[in-house]
Amino acid sequence: MAGTEIAVIGGGVVGLSVALRLADAGRDVTLVAPEDAGDGASSGNAGVIADYAVLPVGTPEVLRALPSLLFDRLSPLAIRRSAVVSLLPWLARFAAQSLPGPARRNARAIAALLAEAAPEWRAQADRIGARDLLRQRGSLYLYERASEVSDSTLDWQRSLGVTVERISRDELGQLEPGLPSDVGVGAAFFPQTMTVADPGALMQRLAAAVAGADVVRVPARVTALEAGAGAVTLRCDDGTALRAARAVVAAGAWSRPLARMAGDRVPLDTERGYHIEFDMGDQPLTRQMTPVARGFYFCPMAGRLRVAGTVELGGLTAPPSPHRVRVLEEGARAVLPDLPEVTRHWMGFRPSLPDSVPVIGARRGGDRVLYAFGHGHLGLTLAPVTARIIADLVAGRDPGLALAPYAPGRFWNTPF
Ligand SMILES: Cc1cc2nc3c(=O)[nH]c(=O)nc-3n(C[C@H](O)[C@H](O)[C@H](O)COP(=O)(O)OP(=O)(O)OC[C@H]3O[C@@H](n4cnc5c(N)ncnc54)[C@H](O)[C@@H]3O)c2cc1C
Repeated sequence: MAGTEIAVIGGGVVGLSVALRLADAGRDVTLVAPEDAGDGASSGNAGVIADYAVLPVGTPEVLRALPSLLFDRLSPLAIRRSAVVSLLPWLARFAAQSLPGPARRNARAIAALLAEAAPEWRAQADRIGARDLLRQRGSLYLYERASEVSDSTLDWQRSLGVTVERISRDELGQLEPGLPSDVGVGAAFFPQTMTVADPGALMQRLAAAVAGADVVRVPARVTALEAGAGAVTLRCDDGTALRAARAVVAAGAWSRPLARMAGDRVPLDTERGYHIEFDMGDQPLTRQMTPVARGFYFCPMAGRLRVAGTVELGGLTAPPSPHRVRVLEEGARAVLPDLPEVTRHWMGFRPSLPDSVPVIGARRGGDRVLYAFGHGHLGLTLAPVTARIIADLVAGRDPGLALAPYAPGRFWNTPF
């Protein structure tokens, strides 16, 4: 049986960031991941280092709108009928976490991680030679109607350290002259936000840096995890068996069975998301923009405009929904009518907990197994921060923030 000091399970942006950080700290690391970078969520996302996104998905406002959001066929949030029954426990927890008290607590937990997101990404981009892929032009949240303006939401974000300005339609026009003049009544502007010009290219540079850092690679899927007193044993679908002093579970939306094998029941599910792309050199927008009521981002990227987002609750195995792709395209054309034909479309799996807070830290049975999964809408943003915390835990250093809000057991003491 092969041996290693630390086995990192999962090769998305979180697993790769963790593997790199640990290797740079002089650890002997083996990465167990079926594909290299690949076309999963870590490449297909909207590319926003969303350090302003302190609010959880579940808030009192979302809870009030939940029935219409879930069952309106054109809404940015959909549920597949076939998945309703299996998703009921997750939805019940989501509803409970959307109440005012839990939502405020969850926002604080997210904000504590986001405070480090931008500096950690700058440092990681320097490390992997990807500074050229980061842009700092800010992010716009477009109000199409006056009823969408929510000063209380902006105040809540400001109270958690976010810099945001309410801007008028004229100011919006100055920032984005390519936006049709009859679209929008104003916007919220997050001037400091960074975006990634090409998340797929970012993943390739990260994977190359990991390979260059002497991380051993097992191109397989872990099928069994056994945490004993002296070691963790992993068995993989290609027959490989690996003995590690420690393991880090970073398998995104597929982490729940691995955590179960390590002794923890975690209510992880997936919020499926979509993107469509329009190949175009000249882009109508110069920065990332979100029409708030539509739940997607316009993301100007290298050589193409990506339109990414929306949420479909529907599990890990159902095929992509052509209807959800159409909803995305119709929404994009409602804002930017002159878009060309769609060049390609894609669906991916956000790893989501009902409170929108990731699981970071040791399993219940001790720190031989560490968790780094469940980052939901913020996995790209939070990958380097997560890696920093995991590296501190492995080194026995104080990670500098209380980890209780991110513990796998935080759901045990509540009915949901
Ligand atoms: C449409 C959309 C837009 C998004 N936009 C943004 C954004 O702008 N900003 C942001 O911060 N986040 C965004 N996200 C969220 C972000 O993409 C995810 O949170 C992030 O990619 C999750 O990374 P991960 O490494 O945890 O998981 P993944 O990228 O899913 O990687 C998990 C890896 O684990 C591997 N794996 C699974 N099971 C096993 C196993 N048993 N053994 C070994 N390996 C295994 C998988 O093959 C996969 O490669 C978006 C997501 C979507 C869908």
